Amino acid sequence: MNKERKLIIAGNWKMNKTVAEALDLMRGLKIELNNVKEVDVVVCPPFTALCEVSKAVLDSNLRLGAQNMSEHNVGAYTGEIAAVMLKEFSVRYVILGHSERRQYQKESDALISKKAQAVHAAALKPIICVGETLAEREGGQTQKVLETQVRGSLAGLSKEQMAETIVAYEPVWAIGTGKTATTAQAQEAHAFIRGLLVKMFDETVARRVRIQYGGSVKPANARELMSQPDVDGALVGGASLEVRSFSDIIKGSI
Ligand code: PEP
Repeated sequence: MNKERKLIIAGNWKMNKTVAEALDLMRGLKIELNNVKEVDVVVCPPFTALCEVSKAVLDSNLRLGAQNMSEHNVGAYTGEIAAVMLKEFSVRYVILGHSERRQYQKESDALISKKAQAVHAAALKPIICVGETLAEREGGQTQKVLETQVRGSLAGLSKEQMAETIVAYEPVWAIGTGKTATTAQAQEAHAFIRGLLVKMFDETVARRVRIQYGGSVKPANARELMSQPDVDGALVGGASLEVRSFSDIIKGSI
């Protein structure tokens, strides 16, 4: 696929995979994807599997991501993980503000922006998730919600940092539900987000930022979604847990 920006496809394993299961998945992915150069491929295992998966990605073109990170560098923050700890395992990307964390851990845009700054301070790249609920879409609030989340979560980033930030548009109603946004809905939301980035930063930065689509991406719909001009990859949940479906999504996008 001939795109303005290099596609980035990330698998968010969420709270799935023991170490043994993670290594099993990695074995299969390395066989299937080792020749893929056209797309940045990222796997985001749970923290408990990062150490072993980091060894597995060493001799591969796959990159490692984490699913969350503390905004603090060190100290008395029970249960939290700091940037320096992720860097020990050669983590390159960190998912921030996933809708499940916004919903269950009540993460706010202000917190996500602090985390994004901590991620950049550690020379890692954040994947910042935004997206509306079904009620918000049906109430005609999609753009308002996206504007609030984009402005709030990306507040305080420099132009240089923004250019190295990935945004994931993930309509909440499409996550884990089997419902996917139509290509037109995805393109419209992505173009809207890119337009906001022009206003917040500038045209050059906005053209560099990669915006992933997330929400029930599967081999059958991935190529069409990513063929849209402002869709620069995918954040994949369920379909990233199996070698076949994740590698078919990636190969289908080339
Ligand atoms: C996600 O959780 O980021 C996601 C997109 O999940 P799924 O692909 O399962 O809808």
